[in-house]
Amino acid sequence: MNVLVINAGSSSLKYQLLDTKTRQVFAKGNCERIGIDGSFIGHQENDGEKQKLEVALPDHKTAIQHVFKILDEAGFDTSKIEGIGHRVVQGGWYFPESKVVTDETLGWAREVAPLAPLHNYAEADVIQICRELFPSIGNVIVADTSFHYNMPEKAWRYALPRDVVDKLHIRKYGAHGTSHRFIWKTTNEFLDGDVHKLVSCHLGSGASLAAIQDGRVMDTTMGLTPLDGLIMGTRCGSVDPATVFYLQRVGGYTVDEVDTMMNKQSGLAALSAVSSDSRDIEEGAERGDENCKLALEMFYYRTSQLVAEMAQSMHGFDTMVFTAGIGENSDIMRLGVAKELEWLGVKIDEEANKVRSGEPRVISAPDSRVKVLVVPTNEELMIAMDVEELLGK
Ligand code: ADP
Repeated sequence: MNVLVINAGSSSLKYQLLDTKTRQVFAKGNCERIGIDGSFIGHQENDGEKQKLEVALPDHKTAIQHVFKILDEAGFDTSKIEGIGHRVVQGGWYFPESKVVTDETLGWAREVAPLAPLHNYAEADVIQICRELFPSIGNVIVADTSFHYNMPEKAWRYALPRDVVDKLHIRKYGAHGTSHRFIWKTTNEFLDGDVHKLVSCHLGSGASLAAIQDGRVMDTTMGLTPLDGLIMGTRCGSVDPATVFYLQRVGGYTVDEVDTMMNKQSGLAALSAVSSDSRDIEEGAERGDENCKLALEMFYYRTSQLVAEMAQSMHGFDTMVFTAGIGENSDIMRLGVAKELEWLGVKIDEEANKVRSGEPRVISAPDSRVKVLVVPTNEELMIAMDVEELLGK
């Protein structure tokens, strides 16, 4: 089935056109700076050269029209697109699984938007635009929170007053659910079903862990929002919540300033004072930069602590998977985290860890109690497979 996957942000729109049967990606790209001067589309076909197309993108509607035009010009007949899959950041309590877009389901995506205002409103707008522009193509909502929705209550509930959390729908929703679900599925296939208690480590510029027992998420590190948990590129992860009041009362920062500080000016970028990119920090540490060394040390410490927390929620773990930008590419970061977990039975084969490949692979030593793998994630394929399942009849 030919599926277009769309991941819209407030000023960007990523797209990927793929065939679910052959898994071939025909084209992918990103419309950037929508509604801002200097907008352009970075476009790539069949893993060919990336092209930068400078086009005016005053709004998302124009961006989508351009995407279809580019695909047609590239020789792909867009009338053959059989479904559109939309990544929605926050599914709230309405999307325990992916759903076909109707007036009702689109209304739900808007209703829960206050939980992720920077994303959901733009995503809902884009879905509506697609329905209007291409009425014959079905749309599907794939929420990044869905996979986590059926966590045990003891894992998702916060110890806050019941009336408040009920009224405002406050709970642990988690994120990266589509990636964690893909990792569960792929690891299970790769290991012929011999995986029961998996800690999935999605380590990219955003990062989260999920404890997955026989396909059910038992806990995850992101919370009401994707700010919680691990130290990330520019996000602080877990800190004492009272830090927020202190910054406002004593530091004089506004709510929005604290939000920006914690989401965009913290994490590895703040610790290293060099960059949010793990490659720059690894280089810095290599040169002997003390801030970079501490940033790495703290990343290993916090990540391994939370891996242990995830394992605790399953009373053990037999498999651990590294994925996303850092997890797939950085043997240094993988080794740093794994070394902290040696006491729990994690033992990496350092040679296997250094092998670079785009395929799933085992990197633990034969006598490791926990099997450790690197599995490249593919959220777009997971979304497209949901579209096929819901629309491909
Ligand atoms: P996101 O999707 O959350 O934006 P990614 O999963 O693409 O993030 O991860 C991006 C991060 O992964 C980069 O900031 C960088 O730290 C790291 N990364 C990407 N490629 C490499 C690489 N080849 N080696 C080491 N780290 C990498």
